Amino acid sequence: GDVSFPYARSPPDRLLGGLLPDGLDERSCRSRYESSMYRRNPGRRPSPHLIAKLRKHEELQRRCGPNTNAYNLAIEQLRTGRSVGSPDCKYVVSISYRGLGNRILAAASAFLYAALTDRVLLVDPGNEMDELFCEPFPGTTWLLPRDSPLPSYTNFSIDTAESYGNMLRNKVLRADAPATPAAELPAFAYLHLDHDYGHEDKMFFCDDDQRLLSNVQWLVMRTDLYTVPGLFLLTAFQEELDALFPERDAVFHHLVRYLFHPTNHVWGLITRYYRAYLARADLRLGIQVRNFDPRHAQSPHVLQQITSCVWREKLLPELLATEELAAPAPGARPSTAVLMTSLRSWYYERIKGMYWDRATATGEDVSVHQPSHEGQQQFGKSSHDGRAWAEMYLLSLCDVLVTSGWSTFGYVAQGLGCARPWVLHKQPENITSAPDPPCFRDVSMEPCFHAPHVYDCKMKRGMDTGEVLPHVRHCQDVSWGLKLV
Ligand code: GDP
Repeated sequence: GDVSFPYARSPPDRLLGGLLPDGLDERSCRSRYESSMYRRNPGRRPSPHLIAKLRKHEELQRRCGPNTNAYNLAIEQLRTGRSVGSPDCKYVVSISYRGLGNRILAAASAFLYAALTDRVLLVDPGNEMDELFCEPFPGTTWLLPRDSPLPSYTNFSIDTAESYGNMLRNKVLRADAPATPAAELPAFAYLHLDHDYGHEDKMFFCDDDQRLLSNVQWLVMRTDLYTVPGLFLLTAFQEELDALFPERDAVFHHLVRYLFHPTNHVWGLITRYYRAYLARADLRLGIQVRNFDPRHAQSPHVLQQITSCVWREKLLPELLATEELAAPAPGARPSTAVLMTSLRSWYYERIKGMYWDRATATGEDVSVHQPSHEGQQQFGKSSHDGRAWAEMYLLSLCDVLVTSGWSTFGYVAQGLGCARPWVLHKQPENITSAPDPPCFRDVSMEPCFHAPHVYDCKMKRGMDTGEVLPHVRHCQDVSWGLKLV
C-alpha cells in the first residue's frame, strides 16, 4: 500500500463519504478521523439524504441541547409535569445498561428514533458512556446533565407507573381515542422496550401510539435491543427510512460508524494491538467466541465446532498429520493472523497450539492472538469495558469474521467492519457433539432484533411480523427475531 497509509488499500476517506461532520477537534478524539486509515474495507457509502439529515440533526442537537435556552425551558416544563402545545424542542433520553454490545445497539436505535421524530438524543452518562465514546455531535454534548430533574430513571422498570405500557393499561392514556389535548398529556413518558417487555409496552411499534407519543416532550427509553427493524414496520416512518437507507442491510453500519468513536485511551489499545499483531499479515480472520453457558468455557465439542467451521468454509488452511512437514514454499509465504476474542483463553490456547504443533497443508503461516481473557462479564468497571470496546473494534478491522450467534458483541463488530459474518450456532445446554453444520453465512451484516412485537396494529391481532415486508425477515441465529436484509 501507500507508504503514508500502510493499512488501507486505497487512500482513506476520513469523513467516510460525508457521513462524519468535518471540523471537529482531531486531537481530543483521534479515532474519528484516523479510523479510515486502518480499514481495508472502506464500507458502504451513505446516501445524500442521510448526509443531509445528519447535518440537520446536528443543528437540532446544538440548538436544543444542554446549556441552551430551549433546553432550560424544556427542563422547566418537565418540573411542571405537563406538556405544552407544540414545543420547539423534544427529547429522547436513552438509558444504557447491560453489556457493551447491548448498550451500543440500544443507543443506535434510540438515535434513529430521535432522528425520525426530530427529537434531541441525550444519553444517560452512567455505565461509562462518557469514558468509552467521543461526543458524536459537533458543538454540543449528547450526555444528559447529571443534575437533570428527571425522576431517578435508572430504577425505571416494567413496573414504573409512568411507563407508556402502564399508562395504557391503567387508561391514563388512550391511543385510539380522539387526540388528547396537549395540556392533558404528561411532560414525560417512560418507554420500557426491554427484552422482558409486555404487550402494551410493545404498542410503541404501532402508528396510532406514535402519533400520541409525538406530543409528549420528554421520552425516556430503556432498551437493550436493536429495535430498528421494528421502526421499519411503522407506516409513518417508511418513506423517510427508504430515502435515508436505500441499502437496507447497511442501516446499523452507518449508525454505528457515525455515532461511536473510541476515546483516545481505547483508540490506543486498538491501534497498538493492530500494528503489533495484525497489520503485516496478508489476511486477518476474526473469531469471536461467546459462551453464554459457563459449562461451555472448555468444551472439546465447541472447539471442534470452531475448527470445523473455519476448515469447511476454507477460512483457515487445514493441518497436516503430526510428522509431515509442508514443502517450503519458495520466497515469502502468505500469512494469516487470527484474532480471537473471548472471556476465556482455553479455545485460543488450543487453536494456537494446533498451528504451532503441525504444518499447514498450504504452507501458509498462521499466527493466533487474543488480547485479553477477562474471565467473566463485569459491570461498572471502565478498564473492563475499554478492553471489550477495543476488542469489538479490532474484530471489525479483520477481513473475515466468525461470530457467535445471539451475541450483540459480534453484531457491533460486523456492523462497524461492513462484514457479513460466518455465525457459529448457539450450542445446546448439554452439548455432546459439535453442531452440524457448525456455522452458517449470515444473509446480512445487520444485527438481529431479539424481541419484536408479533402483532398487527390495524387488525388488533397476532401476526408474524417477519412475513410483512420483504426486507424485514426472521434471523437465522434467533429464529423469532427480526433483521433487515
Ligand atoms: P452479548 O452478551 O454477547 O450480547 O454482548 P455484550 O457486549 O452486550 O455483553 C457481554 C459483555 O461481556 C461485554 O460487554 C464484555 O464486558 C464481556 N465480554 C464478552 N465477550 C468478551 C470478549 O470476547 N472480550 C472482552 N474483553 N469482553 C467480553
